[in-house]
Amino acid sequence: MSTIERRPPAKDALDAIRTALGPKGIIEGDAQAPFLSEWRGRWPGEAAMIVAPASTKEVAAIVKICNDRNIAITPQGGNTGLVGGQIPSGNEILLSLKRMRSIRAIEPLNNTMTVDAGVTLSEAQDAAISEDRLFPLSIGSEGSCQIGGVISTNAGGVNVLRYGNMRDLVLGLEAVLPNGDVWHGLKRLRKDNTGYDLKQLLIGGEGTLGVVTGAVLKLFPRPKETVTICAGVESAEKAVALLSHAQGATGGDVASFELMSRLCVDLVLKHIPDTRDPLSATHPFYVLTEFSSGQNTGLRETVERVLADALDQGLINDAVFADNDRQTAMLWRIRHSISEAINGEGLGARHDVSVATSDIPDFLHKAGLEIERIVPGARVVAFGHVGDGNIHYDIIAAEGADKHALDDKRNQIENAVYDVIDSFEGSISAEHGIGRHRRHALAERKSVVELNMMRTIKNALDPKNIMNPGKML
Ligand SMILES: Cc1cc2nc3c(=O)[nH]c(=O)nc-3n(C[C@H](O)[C@H](O)[C@H](O)COP(=O)(O)OP(=O)(O)OC[C@H]3O[C@@H](n4cnc5c(N)ncnc54)[C@H](O)[C@@H]3O)c2cc1C
Repeated sequence: MSTIERRPPAKDALDAIRTALGPKGIIEGDAQAPFLSEWRGRWPGEAAMIVAPASTKEVAAIVKICNDRNIAITPQGGNTGLVGGQIPSGNEILLSLKRMRSIRAIEPLNNTMTVDAGVTLSEAQDAAISEDRLFPLSIGSEGSCQIGGVISTNAGGVNVLRYGNMRDLVLGLEAVLPNGDVWHGLKRLRKDNTGYDLKQLLIGGEGTLGVVTGAVLKLFPRPKETVTICAGVESAEKAVALLSHAQGATGGDVASFELMSRLCVDLVLKHIPDTRDPLSATHPFYVLTEFSSGQNTGLRETVERVLADALDQGLINDAVFADNDRQTAMLWRIRHSISEAINGEGLGARHDVSVATSDIPDFLHKAGLEIERIVPGARVVAFGHVGDGNIHYDIIAAEGADKHALDDKRNQIENAVYDVIDSFEGSISAEHGIGRHRRHALAERKSVVELNMMRTIKNALDPKNIMNPGKML
């Protein structure tokens, strides 16, 4: 979608916004800085004004003014997005949801919770726990990212295998549409076959179709027993076979199943203080798995049997149980620190891709050959949510090479990885979205039919292209 060149908003339009929100709703001066750059310092931003409305009514008032005056809006949640979708680039109004922080209702009998979009993910998780329920979405940024943000990016994380991603966890939505209308869609229904499922357009919409202001989330019974293990495995093939074995043998009690190559562990040990090797010997790959059960019926013994069988079948080389919360946290710290550890090695080429789970070993093999052909000696850091077929496939320079050694190869590497992904009918963005970062790749790789459908929807709902222009489409 072409970006309409916009002039800076007129002073009287900005004054109208100021009047609608009052001084508390406008972020000015030094307080603006954290909203205008993302945590790694990529995509430094600029905005004509930063606003923080306190209610859906105020959001609607701002969007209406912006639509009437042809002013673009970039919605922002916790600013943890990894593809630059939340950062404005000039004449937009940045609309932060940070003041919309109410848990509107928790209904244990319905297993639902209704929240404002600005509630952080960890606040939502805690609210569910306060009623002895589970809100299962869990990602490394959960202390900062907001419900509106995880909805708009259709976030995934470590529990998708068992509970699904945000698309599966939202029952209803409230949103302000690009023309300023409020869509009251906060239904708590698990069945509703009355035509198109409109909420799914905004879920994963990256703020291009409206501003999410509230949501009804699905809750689940809290697990009674949880067991965390880390296993050393010989290959990605064995990891995939272990997943199938563990799911079958536990009757579906596998909640997370994360794969890390040895290089991931090495980088974490090198760059992250107070971390240690999970197992006494080294292994080509590691699987970090959480099993959970709704009943106290000996999950630990079941998992012990599963691992003993896996050892007999040659699926694993070794394994360790986390015996307490501290050990569980230590194992998860390795997994959650990989991105930070990669940063310590310099700028790499990062990809967030997915293929069918059974294709993961072939994808790793084929993509590895391409990387070696393009940049001999470059290192592949492969990790991710293998149960969902989602691999974070990052390339860093050869050991001891200049930190910028890959700078002029990044496009070539990306194209090669995406070509391999296309050959498996995979996805170039498994969970982080498109934003600014993958906009060109989307335009090149999505089919013409799909792009036309997406553009038709965008044009119908936002004919002036005021919602997050320059992102996704
Ligand atoms: C350490 C770390 C770990 C991460 N791990 C994962 C992971 O495991 N899985 C995963 O999926 N992601 C992960 N992420 C990415 C990121 O946290 C998610 O994309 C998250 O969903 C973004 O939420 P946010 O509130 O920060 O949104 P922002 O970053 O503020 O915005 C993201 C996008 O959503 C739009 N948006 C935000 N709020 C609204 C709203 N209310 N209405 C309309 N549009 C809106 C923005 O315009 C932007 O396009 C991780 C990020 C970090 C930093």
